[in-house]
Amino acid sequence: MALLQISEPGASSAPHQHRLAIGIDLGTTHSLVASVRSGRAEILLDESGRAMLPSVVQYSDNNIVVGQAALDAATEDPLNSIQSVKRLMGRASDELKTLSGRLPYQMSEAEAGVPLIHTAAGEVSAIQVSAEILKQLRLRAEDTLGGELLGAVITVPAYFDDAQRQATKDAARLAGIKILRLLNEPTAAAVAYGLDHDAEGIHAIYDLGGGTFDISILRLQRGVFEVMATGGDSALGGDDLDRAIAAWIVQQMQRTSALDAVTERHLTQAARQAKEALSTQVEVEISIHLPAGESWRGTLDQPTLRSLIEPLIRKTLSSCRRTVRDAGIRIDDIHDVVMVGGSTRSPDVREWVGEFFKTEPLVSIDPDQVVAIGAAIQADILVGNKPDSDMLLLDVTPLSLGLETMGGLVERIIPRNTTIPVARAQQFTTYKDGQTGLSLQVVQGERDLVSDCRSLARFSLKGFPAMVAGAARIQVKFEVDADGLLHVSAEELASGVSASIEVKPSYGLGDGEIERMLRDSIDHAGEDMQARKLRGQQVEADRVIEALQAALKADADQLLNPQELELLQKELQNLLEVRANGDAEAIQAASKQLEKAAGFYVQRRMDNSVRKAMAGHKLDEFEN
Ligand code: ADP
Ligand code: MG
Repeated sequence: MALLQISEPGASSAPHQHRLAIGIDLGTTHSLVASVRSGRAEILLDESGRAMLPSVVQYSDNNIVVGQAALDAATEDPLNSIQSVKRLMGRASDELKTLSGRLPYQMSEAEAGVPLIHTAAGEVSAIQVSAEILKQLRLRAEDTLGGELLGAVITVPAYFDDAQRQATKDAARLAGIKILRLLNEPTAAAVAYGLDHDAEGIHAIYDLGGGTFDISILRLQRGVFEVMATGGDSALGGDDLDRAIAAWIVQQMQRTSALDAVTERHLTQAARQAKEALSTQVEVEISIHLPAGESWRGTLDQPTLRSLIEPLIRKTLSSCRRTVRDAGIRIDDIHDVVMVGGSTRSPDVREWVGEFFKTEPLVSIDPDQVVAIGAAIQADILVGNKPDSDMLLLDVTPLSLGLETMGGLVERIIPRNTTIPVARAQQFTTYKDGQTGLSLQVVQGERDLVSDCRSLARFSLKGFPAMVAGAARIQVKFEVDADGLLHVSAEELASGVSASIEVKPSYGLGDGEIERMLRDSIDHAGEDMQARKLRGQQVEADRVIEALQAALKADADQLLNPQELELLQKELQNLLEVRANGDAEAIQAASKQLEKAAGFYVQRRMDNSVRKAMAGHKLDEFEN
């Protein structure tokens, strides 16, 4: 994807060495790491040849164990073996009340409202637990790839909010991983299947994992995936299928007394093994050891399993129906359905999902690995391993184009993804009395502050007549021609004074940087709003301060007595101090307060100027 920017002489596009980057699927029950090696994305295995790292961390007084060993310990040591920590990421204590029934840990509230988990090694936060998992994956990658990692793409559910994404980033930082970007899990799955190479299309990503079900509808348009809608059930997954099977086993046992917790755990483990085996076998033997030397043996066959799981899978399809409706499309509009998550190995699940979406689901990539594979492909692109020839032609503006306005804010003129050629105009005005020129800065990016965007060009419009602030009408026009050339012109409409600049396109920013800038704008949306508010209030405060200072200079000695002058100067000083502190609300209040305090002075000045205007005129001129 090409980009509009001023060409940078000397910027080289010389071939470079292959750079090491990884993709990480940080899952609720399992996590994986993958990397592109010799042009192919591969899952990286641990020293015992295992791909999946159970997302479990066991804390003891002097040791932290991650993965299979921690999972094995979970039965005996549930309070210190932390599982499903992804559910806690970025959540405040009060949000966890609904989850508490499902989490066996002892939680407490820290000062900042961040929940902490009590373990034998002390209190740990969800971010710390996730960081242990990520660290393990980083070490695995470093061992396998044998070099320094440039960074990682880490996947998150599409519905993750800002806090949850931030928590994931923090965990990565704690694990010593440089995040290239966070990628939505469904987008990663689509990338793994190369759906981003299609021209466009709508795709459904059906992700049935261990504890959660997610359905996402993505629209690919001009190389950019847009999440049209997401849905699902955060409390429905393979574990629920296990519980349904376990309940069936208990029924078969015809026991009246309740089972103890340890037996219960063995039972669900046996149920899970049976379920997984039945994805490739027609029936399976189950044997359960009960306390006091008793045991139970039985057979579970595929038709029975099918009837046990059907109600739960139907529930996922109801979610799909709702989500398709939310996306404002019909099922027939959906081109492909990508299967993600271990539970989609079940042939029954594949059959029902295929019937629902009226298309053969995509299953050729291991559903456990597809997200990590997509993340690795993305990471490879982001570190610049893809040759330049892979860049798409510029047929849309990949990033928004805009202009700097007062306070360092960006006014977007041509939004990103606008098809070219395009021309858009917008009117601006002056900020100060008597202003006869202005400086224009053309910027590119999705952020609200100029300092967070890329500056493309600066030029000035000079020599228009002096007018009071807000009276000049300056028309700024942005035109992008079919070759991607941006032409910006500005004209003061009353006088016809104009200026213009040509911005030449070059191809310095790769997809990676574009994606980063897009991602940043999403990641910082909340922050930007705060910053925008603050800048707005600062601009307003400056206006009040400047106006009052100018007035005092002009006529304070004639119109104010010493007490009045002292009062106004005190209020002015107060606003100057508050303005420096960077609290938008306080600045607004102080500006208001100063304006109110100066009300009498403004009135007096107006009266005075009327009197002045009339001085020297005969009274009768003003009659009739
Ligand atoms: P998550 O994304 O939540 O970490 P996964 O995608 O790893 O979860 O999926 C784990 C679930 O997949 C478990 O419930 C597991 O029992 C189930 N699963 C794994 N293999 C199979 C299989 N062959 N058949 C059916 N279910 C399976
Ligand atoms: Mg998953």
